[in-house]
Amino acid sequence: MIYKYLCVLLTLLIAGCSSLNSLNQLSAPITEQLLPIYSEYYHVTFTSDARKIVPSHWPISYQILRENDRKKLDNYLNIFEQEFSKMPAELITLSNLKTVIFVKELYVGEQYRAAVPDYINEVLYYDINAKNEGYARRVIHHEFYHMLEQQLFGSAYYKDPNWQNLNVANFAYGDGGHNARSSNVSLFTNPYPGFVNGYAMSGLEEDKAEIWAVLWLDQYWQKTYPMLKHDCILADKVNMLITQLSEFAPSINSNYFHSRFNPYLLKNNFRCNQ
Ligand SMILES: [Zn+2]
Repeated sequence: MIYKYLCVLLTLLIAGCSSLNSLNQLSAPITEQLLPIYSEYYHVTFTSDARKIVPSHWPISYQILRENDRKKLDNYLNIFEQEFSKMPAELITLSNLKTVIFVKELYVGEQYRAAVPDYINEVLYYDINAKNEGYARRVIHHEFYHMLEQQLFGSAYYKDPNWQNLNVANFAYGDGGHNARSSNVSLFTNPYPGFVNGYAMSGLEEDKAEIWAVLWLDQYWQKTYPMLKHDCILADKVNMLITQLSEFAPSINSNYFHSRFNPYLLKNNFRCNQ
């Protein structure tokens, strides 16, 4: 155990030295490997070095970070570590995620994105200038879920028939998240039976990814939990998502999420009252 802590301390010291060196290189790209402890633990490369990235099939564009982005990067990494470390290594292995790159001015075509999952090359892109902290935390989990879905079901756009069957008869999703960009669609208003927000109604894949993000974030779970009491479809979706994931990653079961939430939120086992 002592050996393990010494290793962690040594790694932190090395990381600190590396940061000091790069601070002297004003305007130079930040090229050192980031989050060295997590890289080793998860077998994922965390970087801001675009040279480590296989070009995407999509028109993804971004700017690399410079030394004057250091403060924002540090703030973002602080949030990122808090969120990413909630997930057991088993889950990261399942996703087959290989690289996470931190950038700015991230776009797909003409459209700004706070994050982009390249599930073909197993790369997650995150823009360190996400509009606010809560949104940044949500995006970290949401985009990761797209990677997971692609790996577990063969497509990030898998039209899960079991999930579709939970919806109101004849409900039709919109034409995808790329066409649902207004800020009010991401508000947690339970706009329709079975949905946390309007964005979730834009596509089955977005519906799952939004609920997934909620499960990891107390601030959004507290907004969603009251909906479950009267919205049986939404309660069933929460249970189905956890059940599906626990078939691949047994540690991710309802007990796992129960243990993360406040005791007053645990009653009813995500069940509605009808
Ligand atoms: Zn999405």
